[in-house]
Amino acid sequence: MRLRVAGVINDSIVDGPGLRLAVFCQGCPRRCPGCHNPGAWDENGGYWLDTAEILAAARRNPLLTGITLTGGEPFLQATAAAALAAAAKARDLHIATYTGYTWEELLAGPPEWLELLRQTDLLIDGPFVARKRDIDLLFRGSANQRLIDAPASLAGGGLVAWEAD
Ligand code: SF4
Repeated sequence: MRLRVAGVINDSIVDGPGLRLAVFCQGCPRRCPGCHNPGAWDENGGYWLDTAEILAAARRNPLLTGITLTGGEPFLQATAAAALAAAAKARDLHIATYTGYTWEELLAGPPEWLELLRQTDLLIDGPFVARKRDIDLLFRGSANQRLIDAPASLAGGGLVAWEAD
């Protein structure tokens, strides 16, 4: 399966806990003013990568603790992103997913969005809002964005905030 990406970084310490391989998915319709990565907006930009190649890159770094799906908008390519996440989880890698959608919007979305949520350990939701920018926030850029424990939230009882171990 293929993902259209803007790039891949295999030693990120800012896109989730631990040392991570960050996959910058290509394409985002939101166009948030102040977006950290406007080069990932164009759905026809970037380049294709096979998810097997991404997993191979992860295997080459034995110090990795997780994979982060970021962008761009990973949910535009939810089926391939979910497949990559599932294969990475099978190798005991933690999955963090960034999205410009809110948790509530994702729950109302198509089935493949729910599948990507099911493969996600930490979801960082919501668009970047420049007037709410805060450089002291953990793993996110603006105060409207939330760190969500996706498995606990999907288990029922409402949205559960993610907390570092
Ligand atoms: S949702 Fe994220 S990637 Fe998309 S424009 Fe906003 S900040 Fe950029």
